Amino acid sequence: MQKKFVWLLLLMVFTAFTQMSFAQTGEEEFRNGVMDLSGWNREESPMLTLDGEWEFYWNELLSPEDFHTGSHEAAKKWIELPRAWNNFELDGEKLSGSGFATFRLLITNPGDELLGIKIPRIFTSYRMWANGDLLASAGETATAAEQMKPQYLPQIHFLQGNTDPIELVLQVSNASHRSGGILESIWLGTAEAVVEIRICNLALDLFLFGSLFVIGLYHIALFLYRTKDKSSLYLGIYSILISLRTLFVGEIFFIHLFPGFPWELAHKIQTTAYYYGIPLVFSYLRTIFPKDVSKKANHVIQIIGAAFSLLVLTTPARIFTLVNPVYQVFSICTFGYVLWIVLITCIRKRPGAYLLGFGLTMMVFTALNDVLFLSVIVADSHNHFLRNFVTRGDLSSIGLLVLTLTQALVLARKFSGSFSQVELLTAKLRSANKGLEEKVKERTLALETSREELKVAYQAVSRSEKSLQNLMQNVSHDLRTPISSVIGYINTILDGIVKDPWQQQEYLIRARDKSYQMSNMVQELFELSQLESRQFQLQYTEMSVIEFILYFSEKCSLDMHQAKVSFKIIKPGAHEDSFLHAMFVKADVRKMERVFANLINNAVKYTPADGQIDLTFALNEENSLLQVNISDTGIGICEEDRAHIFERFYIVSKARKAGKDSNGLGLAIVKEILASHGSQIEIQSEPGKGSRFFFSLSVYQRKIDQGSSL
Ligand code: ADP
Repeated sequence: MQKKFVWLLLLMVFTAFTQMSFAQTGEEEFRNGVMDLSGWNREESPMLTLDGEWEFYWNELLSPEDFHTGSHEAAKKWIELPRAWNNFELDGEKLSGSGFATFRLLITNPGDELLGIKIPRIFTSYRMWANGDLLASAGETATAAEQMKPQYLPQIHFLQGNTDPIELVLQVSNASHRSGGILESIWLGTAEAVVEIRICNLALDLFLFGSLFVIGLYHIALFLYRTKDKSSLYLGIYSILISLRTLFVGEIFFIHLFPGFPWELAHKIQTTAYYYGIPLVFSYLRTIFPKDVSKKANHVIQIIGAAFSLLVLTTPARIFTLVNPVYQVFSICTFGYVLWIVLITCIRKRPGAYLLGFGLTMMVFTALNDVLFLSVIVADSHNHFLRNFVTRGDLSSIGLLVLTLTQALVLARKFSGSFSQVELLTAKLRSANKGLEEKVKERTLALETSREELKVAYQAVSRSEKSLQNLMQNVSHDLRTPISSVIGYINTILDGIVKDPWQQQEYLIRARDKSYQMSNMVQELFELSQLESRQFQLQYTEMSVIEFILYFSEKCSLDMHQAKVSFKIIKPGAHEDSFLHAMFVKADVRKMERVFANLINNAVKYTPADGQIDLTFALNEENSLLQVNISDTGIGICEEDRAHIFERFYIVSKARKAGKDSNGLGLAIVKEILASHGSQIEIQSEPGKGSRFFFSLSVYQRKIDQGSSL
């Protein structure tokens, strides 16, 4: 990918340079102000430079008519163009840049074809006549500096070749720039060739402007999105500056669009772009190769660049073009330093060093070309050897374009690398997150379970505490009376109050019964405490509903055996048998026995001999419940007592008075056992008519072949 791109760049650069290849014509230069076109092969080289010895009239603004009178022959000198008239020796004195002069050239044997002439920017105003007709002008020529008006306006015009010779007269004046005169070659060629060159040059300029401007904006946008990376900002500003400069050099398209645009301002823009470009390039270099660009050198370059740019902005071109040679020397030194940086970054194999090195080298050499083109050594002399290489002053835009493209490639590589890295990290993070999520889920579940366990444990602890408290209270309160009685009976004997042995035995029997009663009570209390605190494990047995009914019916029948009341068991109808077999119930059989026994005993206790006790089993299929009813026709319980009979030690006063053997723990135990089975004991009663105690147990379906464990 990288190699392909470099080849593409090389191809571009090559194409750009071949577009300018017309500069290298290798033609012979003419002398004595006469150019003979008799040997001109239009096919081979359709374009010729008008480089050679022109007639030169210093301090004269002559029109074509002046030459017909021949009055200025005495002032005639020869000057080899192109060159600034600066340092031209005239009567032993060297000329400065300011002043005015006339140039003249005769072109012999031009042939019949239409010819084109391509006039570059001339420093800094001119008027040109061909065969006495005014052909072109830019700005205003004048003898007084105040009246001169500078303008750079490269243009093409056409000459009718049928006059022989063609006489070109060119008035030039300058008071605005350090250099004056014709610094760049004037071209002559076939009309088609001249038009073609003009179009190609304009196309190249506009292409460079557009490309650099868009690249500049793109890099600035990049910076705005990622302000951390300042290299994009520097390169962006630099590209935009150079893109603008492109419109003010070469074909100077901007002035064609806006001919009235002030020359001074145009010159400032063009020069600032070049001046400030150098510190910008260094800022850019420093951000991409911070370890290789000396901080101090960078500071010096920033300061010098900024100072000179400021000078350009604040002084007229006449002044700042004077210091231009100094800045040119400075530029050449910095270019050397850039090349050095390129070399060391390549040696140190910094990322992107080869590509950027290529771009930077291209930029340095093209910028060097532009600097040399306008430098004193090239501009002020015609024969300098550098003129063989430096033929135009607008190559740096091409160099910069190459640099920005290499930078774009490096960025693209960096971004795609970062993107791949991001993708990799995202995948890693996603899998890590997944693991984490699962772990969090696991932990949450574990925490939830622990919380539930803690809650259960807490409830158990508080229940234990409560039951212990109850136990202590009951032992201290409810056992005190029977203990006092026992002590009373024994003391009566010991104190000799009762002497009759039969009576004594009677007292001892009472003490024994009370003790049995207490023992029973303690036993029940203990059992109740255990139930309340859920400190026991229910021994669940699974049995079919029918087994359950049969088992407890039988048990109750046995308990009822000695009771004198009539007792009836009501079971679900035979048609429900299969269903009863299929339904199952889970219960701790021993505890359940206790429930049935307590309820039946109570019913017996509080029902007169002619009463009736019914034990009913009913199945509520809809709710999957087995309902158990124990009803009697006994004394019943009033509403006030009903609210309390399930509390421990609650004995209905009537019962107490009736002297029934009761301690008020039976129903509390029933309530707790059923609660631990997830059920609830309920009561319906009417004093004098009887009571009905009932509860329900959940049933469920199970395959019959699994059998029961009872
Ligand atoms: P006890 O062991 O003293 O019978 P219980 O807790 O079993 O204690 O009963 C509490 C009270 O509820 C009893 O004192 C009694 O007055 C009343 N009671 C319980 N069952 C019946 C019933 N079938 N008919 C009338 N009263 C009842």
